[in-house]
Amino acid sequence: MASLNSVPAWDHEVDVLICGFGMAGSSAAIEAIDTDPQADVLIIEKMPERYAGGNARASGQSLMINKNPQALKDYQRAMSQPNPIPEDMLDIWADRMSKLEPWIQARAEEVGARFIKGTGFSEREAVLEFPEFGAREAVAYTSTILPIPSGVWLAFKANVDKRPVKVMYETPLVDLVQDPDTLEVFGAIVEHQGKRAAIKARRGVVIAVGGYEANLEMQRNYCGYQEIHPLGTPGNTGDGIKILQKAGAELWHMRNNGQSGGIWPGIQHPDFQTVFMRNFFMQTFSWLEICADNQRFYNETAELQLTHYKEKKHGFFTDTPHINAQPVHMIFDEETRVNNCLIVKAFTWNVATEQLDWSEDNSAEVEKGWILKADSIAELAAKMGRDPAAVEATVAKYNAACAKGEDEFGRHPATLQPIAKGPFYALKIVPAVVCTSGGGKRNMEGEVIGTNGKPIPRLYEAGECGSMFSHLYQNGCYLTEAMISGRAAAKNAVSLKAWG
Ligand SMILES: Cc1cc2nc3c(=O)[nH]c(=O)nc-3n(C[C@H](O)[C@H](O)[C@H](O)COP(=O)(O)OP(=O)(O)OC[C@H]3O[C@@H](n4cnc5c(N)ncnc54)[C@H](O)[C@@H]3O)c2cc1C
Repeated sequence: MASLNSVPAWDHEVDVLICGFGMAGSSAAIEAIDTDPQADVLIIEKMPERYAGGNARASGQSLMINKNPQALKDYQRAMSQPNPIPEDMLDIWADRMSKLEPWIQARAEEVGARFIKGTGFSEREAVLEFPEFGAREAVAYTSTILPIPSGVWLAFKANVDKRPVKVMYETPLVDLVQDPDTLEVFGAIVEHQGKRAAIKARRGVVIAVGGYEANLEMQRNYCGYQEIHPLGTPGNTGDGIKILQKAGAELWHMRNNGQSGGIWPGIQHPDFQTVFMRNFFMQTFSWLEICADNQRFYNETAELQLTHYKEKKHGFFTDTPHINAQPVHMIFDEETRVNNCLIVKAFTWNVATEQLDWSEDNSAEVEKGWILKADSIAELAAKMGRDPAAVEATVAKYNAACAKGEDEFGRHPATLQPIAKGPFYALKIVPAVVCTSGGGKRNMEGEVIGTNGKPIPRLYEAGECGSMFSHLYQNGCYLTEAMISGRAAAKNAVSLKAWG
C-alpha cells in the first residue's frame, strides 16, 4: 500500500476509479453514471483498446436468466455445499438475479443490439448444468446479445462509450493509496506510458480486474497445477489479488473444491499464449485421448460441457483428470478429421480478438504440422514420442470395445466408433481454464472485507476477482454476477461523500 505522504501530487482526480474494463468494470461504469450523471468516472484498463474486454469478450456470452429467486437460492446453496456461501448473500444475489433481465435488455436496446433467448451458437434454449441440484427450477432460460462472438461485451462497451466515462488504456493498477491505520482508500497508483501516476479517487475505487488465469505461478501456488493455459485474456494475471492482499483484505474462494469453471481440453497455437477450446459438438467419434502412460483415462464423449468439465466421482463433482495426466494426445482417424472442425469457433480469446481461424476439415493445421499425421498408429506414436507398441495396444483395446459395444469408461454406445480409417492423426491436448474465482472477500454491496472482519473504507470489488462462487456454478452466472457486483460496487462508491 502507498500512503498519502508518498504521493507528492495527484496526476489525475476523479470521483470513482474503476480498475478493469471487462464485464464488471463496464457494468460499474454504466451504473455509476446512471446513478450520478455529474460524477467523474474513470476506467483504467491494463490492455490496449484493441485487447480490452477481458474474459467478458472471450466468453461464450451466455447469460443465465432466473424468474424464481427461491429456486435459484436453493440451487446455488446445493452447488456450494463444500464451502457454503453466506445465506444473506444468496438471498440478495437471487433477488437481484431475478430482476436483472430488463436491465440487460435495456443495455442491448440502448445501442441497437439484439437480446435473444438461447446461446446464439447452439440449439439449446436453456443450459441446465446440474439438474440434480435444481437447475430445471432455477434456470428460466439462457440468453445472450448478438453477435457471436463477443456480443454482450460489445453492447456493454458501446453503452460505456455513450456515457461521459473516461477510459485510460494500457494503464494497469499497481497499488492503492491508503491510510495505514484506518485503511481508508484515497486513490491508486497506476503505470501509464512507462511512468507511475497517482490517481485521486474522491469517493471510491472499484477493483474489477478479473482472475489469475494467465498467471502460471499463482495457479501452481494456489491450485497445485503444473501446467495450465488460459482460454481467455492474457491480461488477467491476478494483479487484483496481490493488491488486495497488500491493502489488508481477507482472501476467499482461492481454489474451491475444484476449479469452479472447470479444466477444459485446450489446443495450443504455436504463436499465442492463450489456447483454443476443443470442439464439444463432435459429429463423429472415431477418436480417443491418451495420457502420460499411453492409456485412455476418462469418458471422452460424455457431455462434460454441461457440467463445466466436472465428472461425478465418489458422489461428488470434481475436475476432469487432464491436469494430472499430461502429456495428453487426442488420436483420431480420417473420418473424424474430415467431419469435425476441432476447435470451438463461437468464443475464446484467440477467436474473439485475434480472429484466428481454423480450417473446417483441419487440413490447414495438418499442413502446418500442428496436427501430426501418419499412415499407421505405430508411426503416429513415434511422432508423438510415445511407445508404439503401447499406443497400438490402447487403440486396439478401444476398437475391440467398439466392436463389443461396451466401454470401460462408459462411453455411450452411439459414440463407440473405431479408429479405423487411415491416415491417422494426433493432436496435443492441454489443460485450459475459463475462470478462477478467488480474491478479496466481499459483501453484496461490493465492499471489500479486511482481515479485521470490517469493510475497508472506500474500497470496492466486483466480478471474478473475489467472486462469491465457492464451488460449482451454473453456466451464465459469472457474467451476470459480474454485472450485479459491478453495479452494486459502483452505486455505493458513487453515493459516498468525497473524502477530505
Ligand atoms: C472462454 C470463456 C468462456 C466463458 N463463457 C462464459 C459464459 O458463457 N457465461 C458466463 O457467465 N461466463 C463465462 N465465462 C466467464 C466470464 O467471462 C468471466 O467470469 C467474466 O468476464 C468476469 O468478468 P470480470 O469483469 O470480473 O473480468 P474480465 O471480464 O476478465 O475483465 C477484467 C479486465 O481487467 C483488466 N485488468 C487485469 N489486470 C488489470 C490491472 N492491473 N489494471 C487494470 N486492468 C486490469 C483485464 O485486461 C480485463 O479487461 C467465460 C470465460 C472464458 C474465458
